[in-house]
Amino acid sequence: MKRRKFIKRGLIAIVGFFIMSNKLIANQIFKSSLFKDGIFHNNFISHNVSSFKKFLQWRKESKKPDPITFPLAKNNPVFLKNNRITPTITWVGHATFLIQIAGLNILTDPHFTERASPFNFAGPSRTTPVGLKIEDLPKIDLIIISHNHYDHLDKQTIQQLIKKQQDNQPLILVPLKLKKLLEKFGAKNVQELGWWDNTILKNIKIHSVPVQHWSKRSFTDTNKSLWCGWVIDAPNYRTFFCGDTGYSKDFGLIQKKFKYMDLSLIPIGAYAPRWFMKYHHCNVEEAIQIHKDIKSKRSIGMHWGTFILTDEPMREPIEKLEQLTKQKNISPEEFTVIQHGRTVKI
Ligand SMILES: [Zn+2]
Repeated sequence: MKRRKFIKRGLIAIVGFFIMSNKLIANQIFKSSLFKDGIFHNNFISHNVSSFKKFLQWRKESKKPDPITFPLAKNNPVFLKNNRITPTITWVGHATFLIQIAGLNILTDPHFTERASPFNFAGPSRTTPVGLKIEDLPKIDLIIISHNHYDHLDKQTIQQLIKKQQDNQPLILVPLKLKKLLEKFGAKNVQELGWWDNTILKNIKIHSVPVQHWSKRSFTDTNKSLWCGWVIDAPNYRTFFCGDTGYSKDFGLIQKKFKYMDLSLIPIGAYAPRWFMKYHHCNVEEAIQIHKDIKSKRSIGMHWGTFILTDEPMREPIEKLEQLTKQKNISPEEFTVIQHGRTVKI
């Protein structure tokens, strides 16, 4: 009898130990964003890998590629405005998608104006027009922002969207320390999230996840606000919006937490020259590795063909994606691009 009791106690202790150690490991792995000395830091690289000196060297050597206007797909704004049943995704351009899922309309990094710049007279201008006009949008329930760079967070767009829905503003999710800026723009329904935090809107859960990037909107605010990717967990369908990122081990962590993605929106452009861009912008090969790391069932390449931000020729990202996926036996159904303005069912 005594022996049995002893064994039972022993077993309980072992099980308890495993549960506790697993919890500790999980807390270590999914550690929140690191905020130190007034700035946020990446998980796997030091914050000073890209100095101002290197930036100046790049600007000196940089040769702008020729602008290309990519053909626009025709979409159906009336269908999009009335649709609350069919899950769809529409590419507006760059990192802006309209996602219709679980009866909700979601915008990622909305940018509908002419320039990705603090000025309306200078800075990178659109080479391909917006795929869907702002006035053709359905009522928006949720906006997710990945970081504060001008090609991802556009003041004029946010203000137009707010004006359109003055009495019923969409929920805007932003990384830490960006709420104040959005409120300055006039947004009233803003929530800040740190890495691995989540929030619920109706029947979806939205998680902030770490990616490898940085932030800056003025001369004095480098990395003072956070950057992130977003996972949208809808009933039976999980979407990953990657935002802007270099390749890192963060994607292995994201897979550990979420197991797989049904759909991922992954940047494939703005990667040259590699010596300067590689830490904060993945190239096409790395984008495919991200797709694999997070076990994505289907991925769409974004962040190309809209603004000239870096040195690679504008058609190169899509040509490379086609060539490399073929080489790696990945079908176009699994990882492809869609035309600006195209709506696809998901
Ligand atoms: Zn960026």
